Amino acid sequence: MEWETVIGLEIHAQLLTNSKIFSGASTAFGAEPNTQACAVDLGFPGVLPVLNEEAVRMAIKFGLGVGAEISKKSVFARKNYFYPDLPKGYQISQFELPVVGKGHIDVQLENGDVKRIHITRAHLEEDAGKSLHEDFNGLTGIDLNRAGTPLLEIVSEPDMRSAKEAVAYLKAIHSLVRYLEICDGNMQEGSFRCDANVSVRPKGQSKLGTRAELKNINSFRFVERAINFEIERQITLIESGGTVTQETRLYDPNKHETRSMRSKEEANDYRYFPDPDLLPLVITEDMIAAIKDDLPELPAQKRQRFMEQYSLSAYDADVLVSNRHMAIYFETVVKESGAQPKLVTNWVTGDLLGALNKENLDITESPISTAQLSKLIERISDNTISGKIAKTIFESLWNQEGNVDEIIEKKGLKQVTDNSAIEALIDKILADNPGHVTEYRSGKDKLFGFFVGQAMKASGGKMNPQLLNELLKQKLAQKA
Ligand code: ADP
Ligand code: MG
Repeated sequence: MEWETVIGLEIHAQLLTNSKIFSGASTAFGAEPNTQACAVDLGFPGVLPVLNEEAVRMAIKFGLGVGAEISKKSVFARKNYFYPDLPKGYQISQFELPVVGKGHIDVQLENGDVKRIHITRAHLEEDAGKSLHEDFNGLTGIDLNRAGTPLLEIVSEPDMRSAKEAVAYLKAIHSLVRYLEICDGNMQEGSFRCDANVSVRPKGQSKLGTRAELKNINSFRFVERAINFEIERQITLIESGGTVTQETRLYDPNKHETRSMRSKEEANDYRYFPDPDLLPLVITEDMIAAIKDDLPELPAQKRQRFMEQYSLSAYDADVLVSNRHMAIYFETVVKESGAQPKLVTNWVTGDLLGALNKENLDITESPISTAQLSKLIERISDNTISGKIAKTIFESLWNQEGNVDEIIEKKGLKQVTDNSAIEALIDKILADNPGHVTEYRSGKDKLFGFFVGQAMKASGGKMNPQLLNELLKQKLAQKA
């Protein structure tokens, strides 16, 4: 039997407002536990929530970013349930009338194809507090600071067909919310997290299979692993005569498995009703138009522009654009160095991104400034250093050993471009290897690389490669 996987994601993005969605309490991360939840966040009797206008603007920005309809009128509803991190007994969310309606986003897949993923809706809601299971010796700690932090919940259609597609979609939304500056995208701190709904069905069947919901996964790698584990689990289960039950499961990254957490509630279990303390949210055309005018260039547009303006491949453009700050870094270096965009791309997405990833740094934390990378590339173009030596200098820059010219000077890395010096070295190498010379001259052309290698080694990689090639050819052509 051939199986098809179906995945839909619910993404929770914490909005970057200074204060909570219905109160003036601060949203800053990392404060002492339980110092940033006020009476409104905790739903004490008699309090009245007041909607944060900035959160609404951010939701509209998102809606415009995914080409969605913005509801002129939407409604806040109470979703009733008790959980230790939600002691007030209900979460203010949106149910029947969300602020953002149907939209879509085009996602670049690994093989270069573009796939459109449809977005069902996005709604505003408040976050709950946090249960802390570590450091409490068998007890659970509750930190309510997060209660009332504004969230945008982004619900996709079940459009994805593999874990890789789901991750590509998640990354596209991640990149979009950071471009829009509505969410910091920090997955470790939980400000961007997702639930993955996964089901399988026999290939060709149109009816959806029963789904399991994988809760709150906080890294791209874990999302991919959790989904792949879940697909295997469901197929094995069905093939051995069992049935998938609709339930919420938890992914355990240490054991690399998903475990049942609870059976899945239905919407009617929550007894949703319009929050009597909040008026319907009315959004005017003017407000939407003003926000539209203010939208920055979005990832998809930037990707297109990079391909046209800098003649980059879809792949290169996609890597650069995935992080807004990387795109800015790249364009700055292109401008400052005047170098070929493709060359700059190789440095930024290769050496630099590799080094950043290794130390888990964002490009905004790069120890190498745009000015220094530009200078490095300039020094290759003006033949001061070879491309090979540039890699060594890159490392020195990374280790904060000074600026490019200082490092070249201090370490004596200047390329040898003086003909007589190069010729002298070639003479020595030819004299040291008479056998190879004879073989080369009797037609074994491949040995040319051997001589180049020897010369480079002897000069510590500092020979100008063009000059070396030229002079070496001449010398080898001269009959002894
Ligand atoms: P809930 O909030 O109860 O989880 P929603 O109706 O909002 O329910 O759906 C959540 C997500 O589940 C959506 O992203 C949707 O695309 C996805 N989904 C629904 N049915 C399936 C299914 N059979 N297989 C995979 N994903 C599904
Ligand atoms: Mg759900």
